[in-house]
Amino acid sequence: MIVQNEKGYVFFSSITRPMKATYCSTGSNEDFIFSDYYSTWFLVCSNVTDNSGNSTAVSEQLFRTNRVEFTQLAAEYKVVNLGQGFPDFSPPPFIQEAFCKAVSGGPTMHQYTRAFGHPPLVKSLAKFFSGIVGHEIDALEDILVTVGAYQALFCAFQALVDEGDEVIIVEPFFDCYQPMVAMAGGKAVYVPLRPSGAVLSSGDWVLSAEELASKITARTKAIVINTPNNPIGKVYKTEELQMIADLCIKHDLLCISDEVYEWLTYDGAKHVKIASLPGMWERTVTVGSAGKTFSATGWKVGWAMGSGQVIKHMKTIHQNTVYHCATAAQEAVGHGFEREHKLFGSPESYFQQLPATLQQKRTKLAACLESVGLQPVMPEGGYFMIADISSVKVNLNDQSTDEADDFRFVKWLIKEKGLATIPVSAFYSPEHRKEFDNYIRFCFVKEDSTLDAAEEILRKWSQEQ
Ligand code: PMP
Repeated sequence: MIVQNEKGYVFFSSITRPMKATYCSTGSNEDFIFSDYYSTWFLVCSNVTDNSGNSTAVSEQLFRTNRVEFTQLAAEYKVVNLGQGFPDFSPPPFIQEAFCKAVSGGPTMHQYTRAFGHPPLVKSLAKFFSGIVGHEIDALEDILVTVGAYQALFCAFQALVDEGDEVIIVEPFFDCYQPMVAMAGGKAVYVPLRPSGAVLSSGDWVLSAEELASKITARTKAIVINTPNNPIGKVYKTEELQMIADLCIKHDLLCISDEVYEWLTYDGAKHVKIASLPGMWERTVTVGSAGKTFSATGWKVGWAMGSGQVIKHMKTIHQNTVYHCATAAQEAVGHGFEREHKLFGSPESYFQQLPATLQQKRTKLAACLESVGLQPVMPEGGYFMIADISSVKVNLNDQSTDEADDFRFVKWLIKEKGLATIPVSAFYSPEHRKEFDNYIRFCFVKEDSTLDAAEEILRKWSQEQ
């Protein structure tokens, strides 16, 4: 629920306690927040004027403002969209067929199922991941099925973060982590991945063990990581994960590991689950997404996996917010995992085919960016690529000078060239944003025709230079 205090600040009343939603800037009147879901930025007003004096009006105003901004931008500029973080192609036939079969599978497929996860789905997830994590996963105790990975993250922060707790977030980070920590009453503490050396690959972005250790205090509750990372594409190596694990164990911390892009790795990079490292199963919540796994983001099926002792707290939040998720979608995802279990490691496996397809798209996009002087950072995983814009000379004079360079550049690219991307500094905290405002993010989980259209825009631009 959104309410307002006498100063006009927006508050959220969480399940357990009311608190200020600090993601709404109180210093300026507007903040741009970028979202993978709305294809471009949308506007959030702070100091919202509540004309009618009731809380509903505030929430309606927030809602309306977001939509207006999105609708305006989408209508105003006809863009080739490499900003959106989801495929513009269909999921593989086997999973679509599984969904159709589920929908025509009789009355039970259209009614409520088990609150914490449809039994066939949690069973297939447990079977699939037990071998990978190296732990016999209890389907009913250790897994919570959620409305996308997004709700798994929400449940994790609400359930595990108490008022005044500190949560270390490794930057760049998926934009919902910070508001979710704040809504739980916690304080986000940031440690950036920093480029080291030539910065040709996402592997050149590293986390300093000293810097991470220096942020741990008596109030630290958890460390949040995302591997493969959005937006950089970094796939954490075992030794990097071990360093984080050692700190978690030493200081008795939880680890929330967002692994939604786990099957998307390139050039032999191997995704390792931090939960599989010794002593980490008990203290890790691993977050996954069927949307990313089967290219079906609109189904919004996700999960959290970990020790039943941790997951049980998240179940309480889930039970008192959404209660349970769409039955037919869960049934279909369960079939998808059954299939992948049988085909695991074979060329027919979608978990082999999708990264192979994306690897080609990655190469195509990188070549095209280089041709206009945008230096790509080759991602080891995920479906995003960032590129350095510092050597590109464009006239941004008509853009607001208060904004970061990457924000201005992205707006220029949309308005002048009809190509939508995302500024990378939006994935950093205000304290570190300035250091990382020379990169923009492209999404390459797109039809070749979409990438061709982007290439054409960039080609024309390079001829004009
Ligand atoms: N985590 C990361 C890193 C993401 O990029 C996304 C989606 N863009 C999510 C979580 C949310 O996933 P879902 O669509 O399953 O809610």
